[in-house]
Amino acid sequence: MPNEAWGKVREELIKRVGSNNYKTWIEPLRLSDLKNGVARFEVPTTFFGDWVSRNFSDHIRGQLAKAGNPVDRIEFSVAQAARPAVKRAETIGQSPAAPVAARRLPLRNGSADEVAGAQLESRFTFDSFVVGKPNELAHAAARRVAEGGPVTFNPLFLYGGVGLGKTHLMHAIAHELQQKRPDLRVLYLSAEQFMYRFVQALRDKQIMDFKELFRSVDVLMVDDVQFIAGKDSTQEEFFHTFNALVDQNKQIVISADRAPGEIKDLEERIKSRLQCGLVVDLHPTDYELRLGILQSKVEHYRNQYRGLTLSPGVLEFLAHRITTNVRVLEGALMRLYAFASLVGREIDLDLVQECLSDILRTSEKRLSIEEIQRKVAEHYNVRLSDMIGPKRLRTIARPRQVAMYLCKQLTSRSLPEIGRRFGGRDHTTIMHGIRKIDELMAADSQMADDIQLLKRLLQS
Ligand code: ADP
Ligand code: MG
Repeated sequence: MPNEAWGKVREELIKRVGSNNYKTWIEPLRLSDLKNGVARFEVPTTFFGDWVSRNFSDHIRGQLAKAGNPVDRIEFSVAQAARPAVKRAETIGQSPAAPVAARRLPLRNGSADEVAGAQLESRFTFDSFVVGKPNELAHAAARRVAEGGPVTFNPLFLYGGVGLGKTHLMHAIAHELQQKRPDLRVLYLSAEQFMYRFVQALRDKQIMDFKELFRSVDVLMVDDVQFIAGKDSTQEEFFHTFNALVDQNKQIVISADRAPGEIKDLEERIKSRLQCGLVVDLHPTDYELRLGILQSKVEHYRNQYRGLTLSPGVLEFLAHRITTNVRVLEGALMRLYAFASLVGREIDLDLVQECLSDILRTSEKRLSIEEIQRKVAEHYNVRLSDMIGPKRLRTIARPRQVAMYLCKQLTSRSLPEIGRRFGGRDHTTIMHGIRKIDELMAADSQMADDIQLLKRLLQS
C-alpha cells in the first residue's frame, strides 16, 4: 500500500527538512507506485521533480528504508491531473483586454511543448507569404532561422509598421520548425503575454516555474516587444531570460514596430542586446508586392467562391489605392468576394466603389509635396520654380512657408525630406517656416482662412 507507507514517512520528513520545505516540496508529492526498488512520485512540474530529486531524495530514501521500504531509485512524473484541461482555449485568446485571471497559464506542467503552437495561425506559413523587394531580407532571414541549423545571428530582430507581415513571418518560422525539427521546443508569444505570465507567476508564487519554462525552450519568439517598454520589472525578467537563452546558444526571434534604438523607455542594455544580432526591417509595401499578395489571395478564393468572376483591373485598382496596410488590403478583397456572392454580381470596379467606399476614402491617394507646392503657387500667383528657388522676397517667401507648413501637415514626410524638396533647404529652415505660419495663423485670421481653404482644395 504505497500511500500508507508514505503517510508515515511524510511525518518523519517534516522533522528532517523543516516545515517550510515540507509544505513547499514534500506535501505536494504523490506516491503513485512503490515496487521493485523504485518509488515513483507524481509532481506538478518537471522543474519541481528535479528540485526534489536534487535536494531531498536522500532524505526520502532514508525514511522509506526506515519504514521498511528500501528503494534504489526515486522517479518523478508530471501528474496528469495537474495539466490544465483546456490549455488551448486558455492561451489562444489574444485580446489584450482579457482579464489576467482568464489567462491561467499552463505553467503547472512546466513544459514548453504544451504552450508551443497554441496561438499559431495556420494560414501564416512561408507558402502563403508573398515575397517582394520590401520584405525580401526579412523573409530570407526568417527562412534561415526556420532551417533550425546552428544559430548564426541572435536575436533575429524584425521590425516594421503595422500589418507588414511580422507576425506572419514568426508563425511561419514556428510552423516550419515544428515540421523540420520536432525535437526543438519552440515557444511563440507576444510581449504582452510574456508580461501577463510573468505577473501571474509572481502572484501565484510560481516564479521558479516561469523561469524554468522560459529557460528550457530552444527557440523563443516574442512578438511586438515594444509593449514592454516602460514596464520595468517585466523588462528586467525579459533581459534575464534573453541572456540565459543567448548564453545557451538558443535562437531568439523578436519583432517590434520600430528599430531597437527607437523604442522609447526601453532600457539601454536591452536595446544594445537586441542590436547584437541581425536587425532587419520590413519596408512599406510597393505596388508590385500588393498586387502579388492580392493575386495569391484570389487563387485561394477561386475555390471557395466558384462562379464569381473578377473583372480585369480590379486588383490593380486595389493595389494602387490601398497602400498602407496589408491587413486592410486583404480585408477589402474578402469583403468584395463576400458581397459579390451575396448579391450574385461579378466583381468589377462599380462593385468596388459601392462596397469599399469607406476604405477607399480613408486610403485617399496620398498628397505629394509637389502637388502641394503647385497648388500653393497657384493660389498666391507665384511661379512654381520660385517655391523651390532662393528668392527671399516676402511675396515669395511667405507662400513658400505656407507650402512647407502644409507639407508637414498633410504628408508623412520628415523635415529633412521636405527640406530637400524645397531646393535642398536645411530642416531648421523648414521648422522656422512652419513656426512662422503657426504664429501668423494665431495672429491673423486671413492667414488661418487661407490655410483652411488650401487644405480643402488639396484634400478634395
Ligand atoms: P504585423 O504583425 O506586421 O502587424 P501581420 O503579420 O499580422 O502584420 O500581417 C497582417 C496581414 O497581412 C496578415 O493577414 C498577413 O497574412 C498579411 N500579409 C502581410 N504581408 C504579407 C505577405 N508578404 N504575403 C502574404 N500575406 C501578407
Ligand atoms: Mg503582429
